[in-house]
Amino acid sequence: MKLYSTNNPENQVEFKEAVFNALPQDKGLYMPVNIPKIDPLFIQNIQQYSLPEIAFEVASVLLEGAIPSEDLKRIIQDAANFDAPLHFLTSDMAVLELFHGPSFAFKDFGARFMSRVMGYFTEKNEKTLEVLVATSGDTGGAVALGFLGVEGTRVTILYPKGKVSEIQELQLTTNGENIRAIEVEGTFDDCQALVKQAFVDEELNTKLRLTSANSINIARLIPQMFYYFYAYAQLKAQGVSKVVYTVPSGNFGNIGAGILASKMGLPVQHFVAANNANDTVTEFLKTGKYHSKASVQTLSNAMDVGNPSNWVRIMDMFDKDFLKVKKHISAYTFSDVQTKKAIAEVYEKYNYVLCPHTAVAYLAAKKYKAEHPGEYASVFLSTAHPCKFPEAYSEELFKKIETPSGVDSMGKKDKTTTTMSVDFEKFKNYLLNME
Ligand SMILES: *Cc1c(COP(=O)(O)O)cnc(C)c1O
Repeated sequence: MKLYSTNNPENQVEFKEAVFNALPQDKGLYMPVNIPKIDPLFIQNIQQYSLPEIAFEVASVLLEGAIPSEDLKRIIQDAANFDAPLHFLTSDMAVLELFHGPSFAFKDFGARFMSRVMGYFTEKNEKTLEVLVATSGDTGGAVALGFLGVEGTRVTILYPKGKVSEIQELQLTTNGENIRAIEVEGTFDDCQALVKQAFVDEELNTKLRLTSANSINIARLIPQMFYYFYAYAQLKAQGVSKVVYTVPSGNFGNIGAGILASKMGLPVQHFVAANNANDTVTEFLKTGKYHSKASVQTLSNAMDVGNPSNWVRIMDMFDKDFLKVKKHISAYTFSDVQTKKAIAEVYEKYNYVLCPHTAVAYLAAKKYKAEHPGEYASVFLSTAHPCKFPEAYSEELFKKIETPSGVDSMGKKDKTTTTMSVDFEKFKNYLLNME
């Protein structure tokens, strides 16, 4: 498998190179040179297959032998080891639940696959792969739990002290083994600045084998295609073959994976991007002008992105042609007030609690359906379990949310974290002296 940079099609690398150095020198993003098609017969009979079987077919077609079949099969069986069920609210509207993984968010799909691919490409005699990640909450948990126990790797997570939810903090700090957490006495931006400085520090890069677990890594994008195919398989089992996917979007990696899946032959009628007040893409689709903005804080904070990093990939897949993009993607934006109302509405009507990100998607799916009635299933993606966002609910409603079984056992484990001021020399010393 060869990949090119969106900033220069001549700049091409092999899959392994793109995995370890996710950001091309020219600051583009890697995309597959060839987007091969899945066998139409496989799609026709897709309802017969399990999630790991579908994942293997999709990954092996795209990777074109970059990882030999038997190894790829093992990686997928290990990575995609939890379900992604469709929950029907009505006969033509369903939630795709992507929160049954270890960190209760869809980022588990990306992080688990990427960690195993990195482990696979790390030779026995190589230095330990040091993964550095700054997190405001969700990414860190998925990366920590994704890399937990993966041989040849170690993860250091930086998070802003007192600024992540209780469950998120437990997911970062109770792992032990090859996972370490640092609570930084500062903001998420401070955490990110420390990590960025580490990547350009010469001494650190000579002595350690550093890599990032950034969401733009192609190895995080690929496994996010799996559940679009798998949701389609579940629809086909119900006799439905037309689908519109609505995706709660921040950096647009999730919806980007859906579009890549459709390029590989998955029949999708249309994609809807759901935005909170961070409406850069909604505005772009309205006006044709792309203006990145400073992000604003909302209830659906994993979508608080003013300049979505994966948007260039989507433009690239549509030949940078505005009209083509508009033909395949719609976008809507909703406020926190609307989000809260949607959570209440869905609970009352369907006895189902949405996380705030998923609630934005519900609103967008409903609006698209109202504007484009037709014979298709409206599937919106649920990116996280509601138990991660207590601040989004009344106390009464929060009590109704069933806590997944993993949470209780996490609460019983010892919390280990290192507190650090925002000081690069201290961080550097920590990295150089850890064993
Ligand atoms: C990361 C995240 C998103 C946004 O996904 P993108 O791929 O960045 O668009 C949405 N919801 C939740 C819960 C997330 O953690």
